Amino acid sequence: MRSSSPPASSAASDPLARLAARVSRCRACPRLVAHRERVARERVARFRDWTYWGRPVPGFGDPAARLLVVGLAPAAHGGNRTGRIFTGDESGNWLYRALHAAGFANQPTSVARDDGLRLTDVYVTAAARCAPPGNRPTPTELARCRPFLGRELDLLAGLAVVVVLGKVAHDAFLAALVARGARVPSPRPRFAHAAEHRLPNGLLLLCSYHPSQQNTFTGRLTREMLDGVFRRAATELKSRDTRSSERILHRT
Ligand code: SF4
Repeated sequence: MRSSSPPASSAASDPLARLAARVSRCRACPRLVAHRERVARERVARFRDWTYWGRPVPGFGDPAARLLVVGLAPAAHGGNRTGRIFTGDESGNWLYRALHAAGFANQPTSVARDDGLRLTDVYVTAAARCAPPGNRPTPTELARCRPFLGRELDLLAGLAVVVVLGKVAHDAFLAALVARGARVPSPRPRFAHAAEHRLPNGLLLLCSYHPSQQNTFTGRLTREMLDGVFRRAATELKSRDTRSSERILHRT
């Protein structure tokens, strides 16, 4: 039987692991709690041998990440089943294949928490941590979940680039910045695929359509378009490496 039961806490002293444990216990949104647990109880035929996670899905990745990816919310039979964000569904296949192509992941697939996937220099999270009905969290639910994103922003101190997947993630990320007291340009940066914005705190914000089936099946988002966004992220990080080594050389 494939299991996605919660792991024993392995890193009590790790603040991101502590946050993940807190996230996975959250029951603040009654509608989402009911939905995620019902889906986990009922399952679908193709996953009937799984024990679904059925809880909020924490962020995942490299604690030293300079790149943050913000998605919308776990999929009912993806993250809500496997317990790892963007894992076990088509959106995840698209995302991790693109991250692998850009050098951020050791493999192009993400099927289960024990599949050997390792991320380097990237952390993946979402605007809402519970699978919502129809993939649509309400504004109230997004606002309730926002402090978790804000806490990740606090803990990922080396962030330089943020990729937002879709407008909901874009708005959630900017709202989390504002909630932390960061300055955000007015009018706010606009969402459009491949748009990029340099924020006053030095972060580069890159926008991409979400790799949902609604976008990928219709050709609104192609593999090349998604790869292009992560190539741009990698190029930016490389150029920051070059600039900082030039500064070091200049000082010596
Ligand atoms: S969406 Fe976020 S705030 Fe709401 S129950 Fe899930 S983890 Fe908690």
